[in-house]
Amino acid sequence: MYSGPGVKTSPDYPIPDTMKAWVLGNPGELKLTQKPVPVPKRAEVLVRIDAVAICATDLEIIDHGPPASILGGMPFNKNFTPGHEYMGTVVALGPGVDEYRIGQRITVEIHAGCGQCKRCREGMYTACHNYGLNYGDVDKGHRANGFTTDGGFCEYQVNHINTLVAIPDAMSDEEATLVVTAGTAMYGLTELGGLVAGESVVVTGPGPIGLLGVAVAKALGASPVILTGTRDNRLKIGRELGADHVINVRNEGAVEAVRRLNGGKGVDYVIECSGAPNAVNDAIRMVNRGGKVCLAAFPHQETPVDVAHIVRNNIYLYGIRGEGKTATHRAEAFMSQKRFDATKIHTHTFPLDDLPTAIRYAKERVDDAIKVVVKAKGVAAHRVAAE
Ligand SMILES: [Zn+2]
Ligand SMILES: [Zn+2]
Repeated sequence: MYSGPGVKTSPDYPIPDTMKAWVLGNPGELKLTQKPVPVPKRAEVLVRIDAVAICATDLEIIDHGPPASILGGMPFNKNFTPGHEYMGTVVALGPGVDEYRIGQRITVEIHAGCGQCKRCREGMYTACHNYGLNYGDVDKGHRANGFTTDGGFCEYQVNHINTLVAIPDAMSDEEATLVVTAGTAMYGLTELGGLVAGESVVVTGPGPIGLLGVAVAKALGASPVILTGTRDNRLKIGRELGADHVINVRNEGAVEAVRRLNGGKGVDYVIECSGAPNAVNDAIRMVNRGGKVCLAAFPHQETPVDVAHIVRNNIYLYGIRGEGKTATHRAEAFMSQKRFDATKIHTHTFPLDDLPTAIRYAKERVDDAIKVVVKAKGVAAHRVAAE
């Protein structure tokens, strides 16, 4: 029977001893297997995973390895379960946990920092100095589920209470999986960037972070908010999420268009979500003097950057690693107040057993897929289109 020292469970939420879990074999190879259901320790809970969204970073990890780091190395053939954008129901409490109750619906942020390094003490736990040191003799308490510890493509997972975000009953499972994506955009704009209402923002690249970046920027009072991209269907969704202007870079030069749309001046912020080869050089020409460029994409090749332009114009350039400083809680507050409709980027839901199909939809953008979600329960055995 499922149990652990000091662990509280409830007959209302019976927990099996083993669960379905996808594990990563060689690059690109996922196998459905059985694993023991993990047991929460101090300050942890067991989450029954009700829905998990596929992120571009999952595709990177499954095919190439980084940024996952298991036992200090590549994640392949280590019985590792990827997946990180999940939500669910608390079904067991570790010793001493009274912050959450059994049966409570929550979504998660990914990173539980060690809590003791310089960055964790500053609230920048996604930049924890003990990143990945959580195996064997070295256990600094760091967890990043789906990156350094088992993630969400399974039925149950253990989470530190600091990674939980309570959600209202009115928020659907699918919408709740998007809180962390909105939280990442929030962290880039406010905590790292210092955005205040009335400042101007360009988002380059209408992927999930870019589209929710538009929504969050608009909700924060940014003006104008401009979105650039190559696909009109995604730019249209950007408009629905609050973009004042959209620019299809296939039809016009993005830098000139941004300057024209903002009265000849550059903007205060660019959130670079495209990873395009010349994206950084374009971004530093879209911002005004003293402006800030947040880099949120993973480009595949190194490209020369016009550093002299950055120096001459006092431009700030910063990378963003995930969410931090509890930005997900503020993103959830926007979403539960219906300040924007994140579900506009959710396009497909598949059963957990069909994960490879779901991944194919996400990777190849089948049927204009943006955010693809898998659910362990409550999904018909075939594709379910979003509303
Ligand atoms: Zn992600
Ligand atoms: Zn730390």
